[in-house]
Amino acid sequence: MGLLAKRLEGLGTENAFKLGDDIQRCLDRGIDVIKFNLGAPDFRSAPHLNRVAIEHLEAGNSGYCDPAGILPLREAIAHHVETTRGIEMTADRIVVTPGAKPPISYTFQTYVDPGDEVVYPSPGFPIYESWVTFVGATPVPLQLSEDRGFAFSADDLAACLTERTKLIILCSPSNPTGGVLSRDDLAGIAGVIRERCSPDVRIYADEIYEHILFDGEKHHSIASEPGMAERTILASGHSKGFAMTGWRLGWAALPSPEEAAIFKQLNINIVSCVPPFLQEGGRAAYEDPATAATVADMVSQFEKRRDWVVPALNALEGVRCQMPKGAFYVFPNVSGVCERLGIVEAHSRLPGASRARATPAGMLQMFLLYRYGVATMDRASFGRIGSEGQHFLRLSIANSMDDIQRGVARLETAFDDAAGFEAFLAEEGLF
Ligand code: PLP
Repeated sequence: MGLLAKRLEGLGTENAFKLGDDIQRCLDRGIDVIKFNLGAPDFRSAPHLNRVAIEHLEAGNSGYCDPAGILPLREAIAHHVETTRGIEMTADRIVVTPGAKPPISYTFQTYVDPGDEVVYPSPGFPIYESWVTFVGATPVPLQLSEDRGFAFSADDLAACLTERTKLIILCSPSNPTGGVLSRDDLAGIAGVIRERCSPDVRIYADEIYEHILFDGEKHHSIASEPGMAERTILASGHSKGFAMTGWRLGWAALPSPEEAAIFKQLNINIVSCVPPFLQEGGRAAYEDPATAATVADMVSQFEKRRDWVVPALNALEGVRCQMPKGAFYVFPNVSGVCERLGIVEAHSRLPGASRARATPAGMLQMFLLYRYGVATMDRASFGRIGSEGQHFLRLSIANSMDDIQRGVARLETAFDDAAGFEAFLAEEGLF
C-alpha cells in the first residue's frame, strides 16, 4: 500500500493556474510580464452588485444556508434559463455551486462509471479531460478543426459515439478557441443524439461564456432543441459574463429535481453551501436592470480588442489566427513559428521522457515567457490526448488594449529570434 491513492494518477490540472510559478520566477527576475494566460475579465465586479453583497454581510447574513443555493437566487436563475433558452425550468432543478467548475466534477461523479466513454471537445477546457481520466472513464476527444472555425458537425459527433458513450460535453462559446456552435449546428447535433443515444446519456452544456458573443450574435443552447432539456446539465455562472471570477458563483440546471438533489448532496459533502451574502449579490446580477449595460460595455471592449488583435497576429510571419465569435480568447496556429525558430527540430532532439512531456508549442510558450515577458497557454493545456502535432497558443484578450499592443510587438520580435531560442534552451535547461 503506497501513500497516495491510485486514482490520483489520472488527475490533470489547469495550466493557466499552474503557470503562476513560472510567472512569479520571471517577475522575481525583474521581467515585466504581460499576462495573456489568464481566463479572467480585466474588469471589476459591478458596484451595484458589490453593494448588495456588502449590505447583506453587514446585516449579518453570514451563516450557513440552503446547500442547493438560496431560493431567490435559484428562482432568478430558473427565470433566466426560461427566458434565454425558451424551456421550462423550476428552482428545484437548479443547484448553486462555488463557480462553474464544480458542476463538471459533480457530473462525472453522478453519471460516469469507469470504462464509460466521454466525448469532449479538444481543444477544450482542461478540466473535462482531467475528470475523464480521474474517474477511469475512456476519453473520446472530439478534435475541433481550425478551418471550420473550431465548430464541429453532427457527423463529427456521430463518429465519436458508441454504445458505451455516457456523457457528451459541449462548450459554446468555447474556451480556448472562441468558436461558437450555431443554431443549425446545435439542431444537427441534437438530431444525432436523439437518433443514436439512449435517454440515459447525458449532455453537459458548458455555457459559462453565454454573455460574451460578438457581431450581434445571440447565444444558442443545446437545451433549447427538442428532446434535449431532459438530457442536459446546463452549467453557467457569474465568473465571465459578470466579471466575478473571485466570487466563486456558478450553477447547474439539471434535467430533473431528483438529479438536482444529487448535486445538492455533493455540495453538502464537499462545500456545504455557497456564502449567502455572495449569492444575494449574484441574484442582483440577474434581477437588477443595471447589469445589462455593464455586460454590454465589457463585451464591446472585448470585441474592439479582438478586431485589433486578430489582423495584427495574422500579419506576423508563421501565424494564422481565426476570428473568434465569442468568449475572450484568440487561438492562433503557430506551426510556422515553431518551424522558423527551429522548435519542432529541437523538440525532436529531446531525450525520450522530456520529449513526451514537452510539446513544441509548450517550448515556444516558455521562450516567450522567460525571454520576452509574454505569458500564453499552449495547445496541450487544453486537452493533451490526440493533440500531437498541433501547434497553437491561446492568448486571453482580457487585457488592456495597451498591453495587447505591447504584447504583440514583443511577439513580432520573438518570432524572429531563432538565436535567442537556441540560447534559451541551453541556458534555462527547462526541458
Ligand atoms: N468552464 C469553462 C469553459 C471555463 O473556461 C471556466 C473557467 O475558465 C470554467 C468552466 C470555470 O469557471 P469558474 O471560474 O466559474 O469555476
